[in-house]
Amino acid sequence: MKEVKILDKTFRLYKNEEEIATSISTIANSINSDYEGKSPLFLGVLNGCFLFAADLMKKVNLSCEISFVKVASYKGMKSTGEVNQLIGLDRSLEGRDVIIVEDIVDTGNTIETIVDLLKKAGCNSIKIATFLLKPEAYNKDIPVDYVAMEIPNAFVVGYGLDYDGFGRNLNELFVLKD
Ligand code: 5GP
Repeated sequence: MKEVKILDKTFRLYKNEEEIATSISTIANSINSDYEGKSPLFLGVLNGCFLFAADLMKKVNLSCEISFVKVASYKGMKSTGEVNQLIGLDRSLEGRDVIIVEDIVDTGNTIETIVDLLKKAGCNSIKIATFLLKPEAYNKDIPVDYVAMEIPNAFVVGYGLDYDGFGRNLNELFVLKD
């Protein structure tokens, strides 16, 4: 079985390129039919989404736009609470049908934050497309509309996902070897 070493950890092959491509085609087909006649705005969440977003968009045949954001968290100056902000948003979302493009949804904390921030932007609709979902870890009520692959509660790298900054450029998905 194919393995890769990243920093101090070893990972084994989990999903190959063909499996990844097939799973992405399936959700692209659903998006193409669900959004027929509409002009959605895909909003990729960096850094992890970059390969998934590229491959997904190549299979989307709608008239659409794609833009990218990052989620920044910082401690408020006066409050002790964490403040979240979307950075890089370069256009108005007012009235738009937005599809968030994520690499992975684990507990759902990140996606919940993003959806909350987008709700204030006056979107017509907000849906979520993710490469991976960990159903056992997900503990939110927000529906995750388009899931390329469901995976168990394990740590994965490759295809955009990193281990301590490394491994994002692997074109297959690897899981931590125990
Ligand atoms: P959540 O907020 O849904 O718990 O976690 C989302 C973030 O956790 C992802 O955007 C990703 O950065 C990180 N994450 C969760 N599970 C994994 C994993 O298996 N591998 C990697 N590389 N990152 C993960």
